[in-house]
Amino acid sequence: MINKLKTHVKSLEREMFELLERLVLIQSGTYNKAGVDLVAEHIDRILAEVPLSTQVLPMKKCGNMVLALNRKAGQEKSVLLMGHMDTVFPENSGFNHYREDRFKAYGPGVLDMKGGLVTGIFALKALSDLELLDDIPVTVFFNSEEEIGSPYSRELITELARKSRAAFVLEGGGLDSQVVVGRKGKTGFDLLISGKAGHAGCAGLDKPSAVLEAAYKTIALEALNRPPHILINVGLIHGGMGPNSVAESARLGVDVRFTHKEDGKCLMEKIRKIAEKNFVCGTASELRIGSNRPPMDTDHRIEALYRVALETSRKYGLPLGRETRGGVSDANYIAAMSVPVLDGFGPCGDMDHSDREYILKKTMVERTILLAGCLLEFGGV
Ligand SMILES: [Zn+2]
Repeated sequence: MINKLKTHVKSLEREMFELLERLVLIQSGTYNKAGVDLVAEHIDRILAEVPLSTQVLPMKKCGNMVLALNRKAGQEKSVLLMGHMDTVFPENSGFNHYREDRFKAYGPGVLDMKGGLVTGIFALKALSDLELLDDIPVTVFFNSEEEIGSPYSRELITELARKSRAAFVLEGGGLDSQVVVGRKGKTGFDLLISGKAGHAGCAGLDKPSAVLEAAYKTIALEALNRPPHILINVGLIHGGMGPNSVAESARLGVDVRFTHKEDGKCLMEKIRKIAEKNFVCGTASELRIGSNRPPMDTDHRIEALYRVALETSRKYGLPLGRETRGGVSDANYIAAMSVPVLDGFGPCGDMDHSDREYILKKTMVERTILLAGCLLEFGGV
């Protein structure tokens, strides 16, 4: 069976790259609904051929999404394959071409994560071709707004995770064949600071300057940093009207990352205290939490799933490593439901979110075999 699967996936390699090129050439930045819809339509058609029972979920405020499953997934807890069809590149981005050389493929989303979508689709197709898919309960969910925090699909991801025994997320793999076993949690927030306007020429030491308060708060917030597990970055500061006015308002934009759930809670308490405290008399502050993703903490469930992946990689003679990442993905939401999840199952590469984004071509087949092999473990074949 091992050789049969490997040989079959290899025979599909050209088809995989043809699909990758087709998907990459459809511009699908998160806010480009028409583009994302087109990707969804395309993928829906391909998943129907696998065959899976598939549907496009129409969305009003973002691109459409795709949900597919086989018969067995309706009967028992499923293995969830999760990916996103949007990219970070807007419609007018100059990075809108696809190119291959001997070792690499380049293009917008080639790594993040149209390559991963191809891996997922072809792992299922290969298993289906070999009549192995019916025994594995599989659910596929491809959303359309992961790059902005999955605000419209978060609920469905949580619901699907609840019905899953394990999940594989198809983000790009690391350059040394790593899959992702942990991700930091992330909270983004704004601090809106108000002061009282006045003429700079008449102000005393007690002037209620929002900019001065913002400066104190920046220093207090940055002092909470405890790398590598707790990272807090005041990345945006905006305020005041001009040098000759006492600043009436200021805004801080802050990004917080943490490895462990408990750290996140404790950190938010400290942040609230800093928000409430007035360093400068006569100012007031409002904390506005924006995005918020729990950490993907590498617990025993994830360790157990990694062992399955490692055994599978050995069986099939494939390279495999592990890593934790500071960036977030939908794996964070899945892990928060106490479901074993591994991320980074797409082809390996680098420079995502830039116009130098690429994948290593040989890892397309490797990752597809790995994923198909891992799925087989759940079918008991
Ligand atoms: Zn991604």
